[in-house]
Amino acid sequence: MANGQPLRNPEQPERIRHLKDGASRAGAVFQAPRDHGRGPIAAVHSPEYLTFLENIHARWKRIEGASDEVIPNIHPDSRGANYPKSAVGQAGYHQADTACPIAEGTWEAAYWSAQTALEGADLLLGGERAAYSLCRPPGHHAFADLAGGFCFLNNSAIAADYLRQQGLKPAILDVDVHHGNGTQGIFYKRNDVLTISLHADPDRFYPFFWGSAQERGEGLGEGYNLNLPLPRGTGDDDYLAVLKTALARVRNFGADVVVIALGLDSHENDPLQGLSITTPGFARLGAAISTLGVPTLLVQEGGYLSDDLGNNIENFLTGFEGG
Ligand SMILES: [Zn+2]
Repeated sequence: MANGQPLRNPEQPERIRHLKDGASRAGAVFQAPRDHGRGPIAAVHSPEYLTFLENIHARWKRIEGASDEVIPNIHPDSRGANYPKSAVGQAGYHQADTACPIAEGTWEAAYWSAQTALEGADLLLGGERAAYSLCRPPGHHAFADLAGGFCFLNNSAIAADYLRQQGLKPAILDVDVHHGNGTQGIFYKRNDVLTISLHADPDRFYPFFWGSAQERGEGLGEGYNLNLPLPRGTGDDDYLAVLKTALARVRNFGADVVVIALGLDSHENDPLQGLSITTPGFARLGAAISTLGVPTLLVQEGGYLSDDLGNNIENFLTGFEGG
């Protein structure tokens, strides 16, 4: 739902074809992910939430007259005092907004999207310099126990935590047009995974309630979350100048592996209209990120249907390779 109206969800399956074609033109060779099981997912998400995601659709359908997709009719202002037993109550507890409807196949899709990120992480552990995980649905708005904004399982966070468990020191750099609020939330009190997000200023853009520069982490995690909000409509040159700050922080942290939450919805023609990165601008973005010189996992986040979507991933990957 948007502006009170039921609308076609921008997160369409057709995105995958555009992205796969574009990445293939840049030289990517695809392989299917293996099943790493639930362990790496459960290291990031709560047990109640995983049970909810797996079963809620079947439970919802047992409600007389229920819709085909689970969309909550309550949005609590705080959670935790009581964990409700009812399907309706739990939908309110675990779904932050109306942009994360749960259909019959959502759990299976989200599970394999997470496995796709883990497969990319395995390629890095096997010695590859970089890997691109073509994940759908995206993940960076998903918290430990909360879906939102087309996201259910936080693929970037799951991959980063998996790499950490193998003894590496990961940074997550989120370049999606939206603030990576779920990723921030998952690592907010930790200093073992650095989280950075460049995004359209939440004062006037989703996710509205997270993403300001003052949010720097808490407790042990203080100083290990960096938000770099940008004015609506920011273009290539100004974006790349701010990106330098992010890259300097990654180096200063001493990351030996980087997970890029690679949203392409910062493009000037993306239907969500937050920033104004051009198609050649994505090549510059890729080249700048490659200068980090550490193994890099590129995890697909947002980027919605336009004639430019495939060219944008092609440009990013070509620029990254060239850099
Ligand atoms: Zn986005």
